Amino acid sequence: MNSAAWGTSSMKEALPDSTAEHSTVSINGHGNDAAAAAAPAQQDSKQWIKPRAYDYTAMDGPDQNSPWDGSAAVYEWDGEGGDVGPEYPDLEVELFGKAEDRKEGRGVDFTAIAEIEVVQEGPVKIDRIDSFRDAGLHPVMLRNVELAGFEAPTPIQKYTLPSIHLGYDTIGIAQTGSGKTAAYLIPILSKLMGKAKKLAAPRPNPATYQEGVDRPYRAEPLVVIVAPTRELATQIFNEARKFCYRTMLRPCVCYGGGPIGEQVRNLGKGCDILVATPGRLLDFMKRPQVLSMSRVRYMVIDEADEMLQVDWEEEMGYIMSGANQDEGNVRYLLFSATFPKPLRDLAKLHLAANHVRFRVGRAGSTHGNIKQEVLYVDANLKRDALTTALKSIDPCRTIVFVNSKRTADDLDDYLFNMDMPCTSMHSDRTQAEREAAMRGFRSGEAPILITTAVTARGIDVRHVRHVINYDLPSMDHGGIEEYIHRIGRTGRIGHRGLATSFFTDGDEAIGSVLTRTLLETNQEIPDFLKHHVPEEGQDLKFEADSDFDPNEGQGAQDGDAWGSGGNAGWGNEAGNDADAGADAGWM
Ligand code: ADP
Ligand code: MG
Repeated sequence: MNSAAWGTSSMKEALPDSTAEHSTVSINGHGNDAAAAAAPAQQDSKQWIKPRAYDYTAMDGPDQNSPWDGSAAVYEWDGEGGDVGPEYPDLEVELFGKAEDRKEGRGVDFTAIAEIEVVQEGPVKIDRIDSFRDAGLHPVMLRNVELAGFEAPTPIQKYTLPSIHLGYDTIGIAQTGSGKTAAYLIPILSKLMGKAKKLAAPRPNPATYQEGVDRPYRAEPLVVIVAPTRELATQIFNEARKFCYRTMLRPCVCYGGGPIGEQVRNLGKGCDILVATPGRLLDFMKRPQVLSMSRVRYMVIDEADEMLQVDWEEEMGYIMSGANQDEGNVRYLLFSATFPKPLRDLAKLHLAANHVRFRVGRAGSTHGNIKQEVLYVDANLKRDALTTALKSIDPCRTIVFVNSKRTADDLDDYLFNMDMPCTSMHSDRTQAEREAAMRGFRSGEAPILITTAVTARGIDVRHVRHVINYDLPSMDHGGIEEYIHRIGRTGRIGHRGLATSFFTDGDEAIGSVLTRTLLETNQEIPDFLKHHVPEEGQDLKFEADSDFDPNEGQGAQDGDAWGSGGNAGWGNEAGNDADAGADAGWM
């Protein structure tokens, strides 16, 4: 392969602020800020840090030093006073980071996504908001958004904030890294803040509650968020922990492979926001003493396309109708990066006829701020290509995607023996191992993560600068959509990133659609793909995934109750949200 073609000079262009960021990696890698401060940052900035051997004994189960991610601290409301709880500075730092670090590195290159066009479909037209201040947010939410360091809403947030606030079932299709989690959490939690006391289930007083002595309460969440993987569920939970700060809304997370007893005990302390993977959720739904869906007001399906790919259609149907409440009581929200047919069918079945859909850019298309390199590699020489790729740019957080668990294991050994700081993750690993791998990767101790695609879905780690498709996705396992998801791990929220893919003779099937993706995102087409470039005048269009079914718009017409006047602005609730009036205070 020709590494000269993407040598340091072109990388500088692709990663303008790489110098600042990779030094963070090596500083964290030492696990000791003081030591890093003593050593000049530039000294080893061009070298990967040394790997640390795994301590397998430490992975037998959670211990004091490595608690389950799902047991992380949440704001505990003591049931006293008004609607807003007191500040807890320590927890504030745990949730949002130190005040002086909060602005660092966020939204560096927002302009790149701020200009992206948003297409809106459905019977009502939603007026977008351009600032969080105009979003009618509860004051506590506005403060939490500020604490999180969000200065302006991302394109999808500009639309879903008002849409969800007005009470519409909403579908948001936006690229990975475009802020979809906050796009639903902020408006939902903000709306519930003012009325939590009225709506929420009774729960024990955390000040006096003694686990194992007092009886646990049944979890009766107001919001259920379903996500396909444990890591993603944990990530959403972490985002929810921030936005629930100083409110009585208590978030919990449940996922398969995690400690079921601990999850049940945690639910027993009260649960208003439940983030869960489908399997564990179904399990709990079948135990009425643990979980009741009767209070659910919002049901969110995140990474919805992925959920349907793994044959969860039946389970999803059960979950979606699980709340079993009067028509119109539950708002359904679907968020996804792509919008394939099975998902459109699910939406048709469960969402209100007057639901609104927002699509940012082309559904499933990639950010222009990711530089994509496709390299022709002999299948037998992939390992060499990998080391070359890893060494050809300054050390940075890197994700290496492979298609099999076996390859993940092999590559982990291989790189580790090469003295590279790597870790790996796949679905055969225990939950404790997966969490440990993610922690090592996030902290920078192991800045190279080797992973299969499923486990890495939706993962948001700041400052991932390089994604390497060691194996390109096969056409029967996700194809180009999978490619887009993977490279979306870099270039999050406007940061620039590099995606390197190894193309072998076995990848010919994805060649055509890959070439069109490269063209659409203004990338250079390597010679060995040139024969896939469409003739002049030929359509660049993609078949599947992207466009909404034009016939589907039909339903829009008969939603005329909301017709032109339906967009009467804030405060005019759609649906049968019985307590619409309770919002008035925050308009
Ligand atoms: P998606 O689900 O679309 O892939 P995420 O919800 O994981 O994206 O968000 C990606 C990152 O962007 C997260 O770290 C999140 O905290 C951050 N983020 C979200 N909204 C904003 C915003 N308005 N301003 C700055 N950062 C944001
Ligand atoms: Mg997401």
